[in-house]
Amino acid sequence: MTTKYIFVTGGVASSLGKGIIAASLAKLLQARGLRVTIQKFDPYINIDPGTLNPYEHGECYVTEDGAETDLDLGHYERFLGIHTSKANNVTTGKIYHTVITKEREGAYLGKTVQIVPHITDEIKRRMLLLGKSGDYDVIITEVGGTVGDMESQPFVEAMRQLQWELPEDDFLSIHLTLIPYLKAAKELKTKPTQHSVQELQALGVHPDIIVCRTEKELSPELRHKIALFCNVKPGHVIQSIDAWSIYQVPLNMEEERLDQMVVDKLGIPDLPAPDLTALKNFLTKLKNPERSVDIALVGKYVELQDAYKSIQESFVHAGVANECEVRVHTVHAEHVSKENVGELLGGMNGILVAPGFGERGLEGKICAVQYARENKIPFFGICLGMQMAVVEFARNVLGYEDAASTEVSPQTSHPVIALMESQKSTTIKGGTMRLGAYRCSLVPGTLAHSIYGQEEILERHRHRYEFNNAYMEEMTGRGLVVSGTNPDTGLVEIIEIPSHPFFIATQFHPEYKSTPESPHPLFVSFVGAAIERAKVSRRRQDRRPAFPGGFHGL
Ligand code: GLN
Repeated sequence: MTTKYIFVTGGVASSLGKGIIAASLAKLLQARGLRVTIQKFDPYINIDPGTLNPYEHGECYVTEDGAETDLDLGHYERFLGIHTSKANNVTTGKIYHTVITKEREGAYLGKTVQIVPHITDEIKRRMLLLGKSGDYDVIITEVGGTVGDMESQPFVEAMRQLQWELPEDDFLSIHLTLIPYLKAAKELKTKPTQHSVQELQALGVHPDIIVCRTEKELSPELRHKIALFCNVKPGHVIQSIDAWSIYQVPLNMEEERLDQMVVDKLGIPDLPAPDLTALKNFLTKLKNPERSVDIALVGKYVELQDAYKSIQESFVHAGVANECEVRVHTVHAEHVSKENVGELLGGMNGILVAPGFGERGLEGKICAVQYARENKIPFFGICLGMQMAVVEFARNVLGYEDAASTEVSPQTSHPVIALMESQKSTTIKGGTMRLGAYRCSLVPGTLAHSIYGQEEILERHRHRYEFNNAYMEEMTGRGLVVSGTNPDTGLVEIIEIPSHPFFIATQFHPEYKSTPESPHPLFVSFVGAAIERAKVSRRRQDRRPAFPGGFHGL
């Protein structure tokens, strides 16, 4: 079988969930035995989202090979259980960078370098690249942005060309749109979809399938009308109704027969029905938790729900593994102070201090760590969260009042977190952090070792600063345990405090590797510890007299 290319574009509005639709289709095709991967083409000019503030674009996801990518790649990995790579996320910036570098090298000598054909040729080369590896039967390409945007036009133009250059059986185009419901008129409206498809067709791309995001069921008449006005086969208009969980979407798409339409159009014969048993079991447990816990996520980008996407999803997976609903309460690090920390975090069964950059909210994070440590609330720190746990320990256990990370206090007399040697000469910001998967050896007998149940692990990184090993002896002498280090460099990867019921922090980002079918062991154990904590708090409450002041007043 030749490699098949499926393109997913979006219309009418952004944030319709193209990534989830692409990932759901990929899941169905994978569950039918095909080897599938997904790539995202983003229209912005940044080379990658690594230099973007999460407020601009949500979380920056990191792949095993160290690419800083769009958060949709996180969905792809979680839905498919595969690893994506640098090649799976392409931006306009990357395309232009390649073409301009080649121009300077003289690759186009004598020619005027133009959007068509030079930019579009480079886009097409990248669109087909993963297919050339022979590792995949199907490549799904999600084109970021909304059709009609000036920025995404070269991508749509490249699709248009491929539509004719690839054999007819190897190309398929899906357009995702929105069908708004007008409450006052009590009607679903198809006009924006008609306009969006017209726009796509004006660019020369003909959608094979239209997927309609909707709050309400689309009637057969409405589907027929859309097919008629948008010039697609009757039956090739399907709905994607608001789902209670993103992991339900593959099942909804199966019900709409999306995968069958796709394999028919691509001429892939004789596939078994999708085996979705594991996903169905996961959803049954997600829907019917036996218990619940409250966990605080202390971070500085909490206003934006996508800023900590992988952490939020890891809690969903770990919740299911514990048959527990994890209620994640985002707490703005900037709002946490010594005065209010008890009020904000006292009712929590676990506290997670999130990754981040820069000074804003740091003191609040340190307060949160201290509160968790002193009150024996299960604690989990990730990246900057680990760094602040080290600072807190240095300040409040070792008594170094001005202990800090040199990221924000270069002059501190106790730089317990400091720039890695290899980073000192780096002046360029993009793509120069310690990125991607590194090995970590676990120390037998530690909490980390018992959680992972293995000697060596591979976890993903995204940071410049590190535990300063000059303080190792002093800290371990006072009860901190370094339970994981990089075997090649000796860099500290995991710390824990054994005198605490559950206090663990990692320099790496475990959240990037959690999936529904393979929940991350650190998150699973953290939720487990929170469940224990919740039991203790409940018992304590039960023992309290029913009338808080006793019966003295009677
Ligand atoms: N800002 C810190 C560093 O660069 C932590 C980064 C993070 O939390 N991802 O080391």
